Amino acid sequence: MTPNSPHIDVFLKCQTKQLPSTLNEILIVDDTIENLRVLSSILIEQGYKVRKATGGKMALKVVETLPPDLIMLDIMMADMSGYEVCKQLKENPRTADIPVIFLSALDDIFDKVKGFEIGGVDYISKPFQIEEVLVRVKNHLSLRAAQREIYQLNAQLEQRVEERTQQLQKANRRLQELALYDALTRLANRNLLIEQLKQCLTFSKRDETYQFALLFLDCDRFKIINDSLGHLVGDLLLQKISQALQDVLGKNDLIARVGGDEFAILLPNLSKFEQATELAQRILNLLKKPFYCNNQEIFINVSIGIVLSHLDYKDPQNIIRDADMAMYKAKSLGRGQYQIFTPGMYEIAKKLLVLQTDLYRAVKQQEFVVYYQPIIDLKQNKITGFEALIRWIHPKKGMISPGEFIPIAEETGLICEIGSWVMKEACRQLAQWHQQGFTDLKIYINLAAQQLNKKSLITEIDEILRETQLNTSSVKLEITESSMMQDLQTTQVLLGELWKRGIKLSIDDFGTGYSSLSQLQNFPVNTLKIDRSFMKNVDKNGKNLGLIPVILSIAEVMTMDVVAEGIETTEQLEQLRKLGCHFGQGFLFAKPLNAEAATQLIHENPRW
Ligand code: C2E
Ligand code: MG
Ligand code: MG
Repeated sequence: MTPNSPHIDVFLKCQTKQLPSTLNEILIVDDTIENLRVLSSILIEQGYKVRKATGGKMALKVVETLPPDLIMLDIMMADMSGYEVCKQLKENPRTADIPVIFLSALDDIFDKVKGFEIGGVDYISKPFQIEEVLVRVKNHLSLRAAQREIYQLNAQLEQRVEERTQQLQKANRRLQELALYDALTRLANRNLLIEQLKQCLTFSKRDETYQFALLFLDCDRFKIINDSLGHLVGDLLLQKISQALQDVLGKNDLIARVGGDEFAILLPNLSKFEQATELAQRILNLLKKPFYCNNQEIFINVSIGIVLSHLDYKDPQNIIRDADMAMYKAKSLGRGQYQIFTPGMYEIAKKLLVLQTDLYRAVKQQEFVVYYQPIIDLKQNKITGFEALIRWIHPKKGMISPGEFIPIAEETGLICEIGSWVMKEACRQLAQWHQQGFTDLKIYINLAAQQLNKKSLITEIDEILRETQLNTSSVKLEITESSMMQDLQTTQVLLGELWKRGIKLSIDDFGTGYSSLSQLQNFPVNTLKIDRSFMKNVDKNGKNLGLIPVILSIAEVMTMDVVAEGIETTEQLEQLRKLGCHFGQGFLFAKPLNAEAATQLIHENPRW
């Protein structure tokens, strides 16, 4: 041991032989220069790069600055024991992995167990046996190399996992975009709206003064645009509308496309409630100007429902539901306006829903009856026929008038089934009256718009007529002006078919719709039924006849009959007679009657 001997930590370039492994940097630590020399020359001979340290402290410094692949460490050194050096190496994470082989002289008291416990991997006894040294060095370097390879593989694997994670994150973001935004307009979609509404609900839970509002917009008659100008123009229009809407919003407001032609606007922080109505009004004003799509000038209006935040709201879906309900109210009041949601709307909607469910059951269980209201020939002063008017005998609510349930039946599509049943039942009743000898009687049956679009309507009618053996001229079908105008082409074909069969057509509620006279000429119509609203103003002096004389002269020119509906007073009857109106119907003669009462009436053969 020569503590003061000059240390040699020169990097010795090796004269290469075949390297035992890719790792070949060895640090030899020994304070006996002779040992250092012998060992290093053996190893250099074999192609290893060797560094040397002549004491423990120096060894620690060398290892810290440039870690070798293997350390051969003398135990008995003047400045520091090999155990201590090894212990410190193992404690430092940068050096802990480097394998340490202890060097022990025969006369050293080498404690193998302690050596291994501290973290040594092996030991070599002095004097060195060259072969033993080489084998042990080689083995430990290979082990170290293998270990390092595992580390590297692990690191690579981790990196790949990291890369993959990033790719997945990117894909995920894209998916999220798709999940939260509408592809056509790039606006938020329903999902994002719901997320934001949830946040608003959380805010209002924390702060009772916090207020927000939701506007629900639905374009009026958008379907007509799609149907007449095509979906591409429809899509373009939706894009333009969303742009225009965005332009009138504040920067914190959120607009979402929540359905085909439906938008929702969330005002997340209201200072006063009028902000919501003002915005609605601004939107309605904005849409007074036309949009231009593919050189087409398009006017579009919206109906808007507004919901203001309320502490009772717990679920975003309920807020949307209520805004939607208010929007429907706006639509039913004539479109192109806004309505603010009130709890009353909810009650009405709930009732409607119950009624709708009941209606399905009613169809299954045949809870309907047909009532008959006489139509009077005002010239011959006798009953010419009956209008079939459906009634629903609800097991709990009693009789429900068609005004209440026909709109629901139309909405749900049940109207076709109900309509077919009425037709069958009414024709069966008429056939019975004919059998009783009243062969001149006619039946007037109401047809809903949807029935006109039903392909099977004609075959159904043929079937009923065949079964009842009624003459086609005894059946008159009533169609309202508006349902006739809904799909002009289909209607024209269908009415043509009916005409061919000799079935008469009458236009119901005439004067309330928008049919133009030129259109009317194109349809094979026999009868106009003047809506009863015209009758209301007719007084004794015959002053307030309104449009009645005009309608009568139109009918005369077109060689059509006229039935005046809603005659309730003798004065009205007199006026109509004076005007030469041929037929009349109304409470003055009789209310709609059940089959039995109607049969009795025919037998009584009353006069007015
Ligand atoms: P509508 O076809 O215009 O039928 C005439 C309505 O006016 C009937 O109401 C009738 O009771 C009522 N009415 C008759 N005379 C008078 C009167 O002097 N004064 C007043 N205030 N009202 C009078 P109802 O039976 O409630 O039917 C309402 C509407 O429901 C019908 O109007 C018709 O559009 C529809 N409807 C009835 N039955 C059917 C049906 O089987 N199928 C279809 N699609 N609609 C039907
Ligand atoms: Mg009618
Ligand atoms: Mg009518």
